[in-house]
Amino acid sequence: MDLMDVTRSIFTLTDEQEAIVELCDTFAKEKIRPIAKSVDEADSGSPVDLFQEAAKVGITDFMIPEQFGGGGYTDLFTQCLVQERLCWGDLGIGNFLCSNGFFADPLLVLGTDEQKEEWLRPLTGDTPLYTALATTEPGAGSDAASMTMTATPTEGGYLLKGQKVWISNAGIADQYVVFAKTDPSQRSRGVSAFLMRSDAEGFSYGEPMKKMGQRAIQCRELFFDDVFIPEANRLGEEGQGFLGLMKTFDASRIVLAAAATGIARAALEYATNYARERETFGKPIIENQAVSFRLADMATRINAAWLQTLQAATMFDQGKPVGEVAAMAKLQASETAAFCTWAAVQTLGGWGYSREFPVEQWMRDAKLEEIEEGTSDIMRLIISRNL
Ligand SMILES: Cc1cc2nc3c(=O)[nH]c(=O)nc-3n(C[C@H](O)[C@H](O)[C@H](O)COP(=O)(O)OP(=O)(O)OC[C@H]3O[C@@H](n4cnc5c(N)ncnc54)[C@H](O)[C@@H]3O)c2cc1C
Repeated sequence: MDLMDVTRSIFTLTDEQEAIVELCDTFAKEKIRPIAKSVDEADSGSPVDLFQEAAKVGITDFMIPEQFGGGGYTDLFTQCLVQERLCWGDLGIGNFLCSNGFFADPLLVLGTDEQKEEWLRPLTGDTPLYTALATTEPGAGSDAASMTMTATPTEGGYLLKGQKVWISNAGIADQYVVFAKTDPSQRSRGVSAFLMRSDAEGFSYGEPMKKMGQRAIQCRELFFDDVFIPEANRLGEEGQGFLGLMKTFDASRIVLAAAATGIARAALEYATNYARERETFGKPIIENQAVSFRLADMATRINAAWLQTLQAATMFDQGKPVGEVAAMAKLQASETAAFCTWAAVQTLGGWGYSREFPVEQWMRDAKLEEIEEGTSDIMRLIISRNL
């Protein structure tokens, strides 16, 4: 199943879009796939050499505006094309290579031109920095507005105090965007956003957290012990942070849907090839309807997930409200990825369970897509509230 054919059946891609898709396709096949297994098995950190290699061909900063040194593909549609291609190679690595886009989103929504110049330009060029976005706390995940980390006004800025958890890229990140309460008596209206460098005094982080999958990205806890943040590093006005976070999620959930569709496509391809070759009872297993119908379900769900992703991305680029369609795309695509990677394991039988084949890793990797940036339950909550 070629999702680019699906895309071209409805949309006309520009020459630039065709070129970046081809670049990412080749990068996924020649650079990502060959190291994916060893990164997962080693579980010892992110493939930073690959990140720097990707930077040299424009993959890590393609989403940053040209004005600040990036590739200028600021539309979400192109970002989805890229993410789907890279995550076909490996979900964790694909997400890692594009992780600076997650940091850039709240800056693009809330930041001044001076802040964008200062904090986005270092993410561009041949040797970009790494970044992270920190909102989740031990007691506040789905209910982000209940965060307890505080940002107390002090002379010339704020003092950040509290803890974050599950922060992707923590440890290697040079720059963080951190969400904290400037008014703890309020819920979402009390949240503000801040830019912080990793060498800030009073800031520290824990050991890498042991994870089920997507081991190309490490997560850690963050600790803030009266970390001084100058007023110039506040994003937007006090109390606007939650709005920036929600707008970030509008974009990032759609991009996540594209990522999930990429790994689902990989699972379908792998399972189909295997089913054509593996023989039982004197014929290829694909000739059994139980097997071929499962593949048909995978293909159908992938097609639907991709179309919903493109719909949400297009609406986003048109400036339309996307809270509901972004939730639908993320829900559809992440559950499709979970189903398709499970179905690939099932199709390979015992070999699907073996770590010598990639599908067991894909199943572990895909599970995260149903959890991060809002769980499937939260996506259903958003959708049901709009009924
Ligand atoms: C590998 C990984 C990477 C991550 N990276 C980042 C990152 O870079 N930055 C960051 O800030 N965070 C990050 N997160 C955090 C992630 O976004 C949260 O884990 C997620 O939002 C869920 O929050 P929680 O873990 O606190 O679960 P909880 O909110 O405690 O939810 C527990 C369960 O209850 C359900 N639930 C909760 N409320 C409701 C409700 N109202 N209705 C129905 N069901 C409900 C949930 O769906 C879930 O099944 C990451 C998490 C992981 C696992």
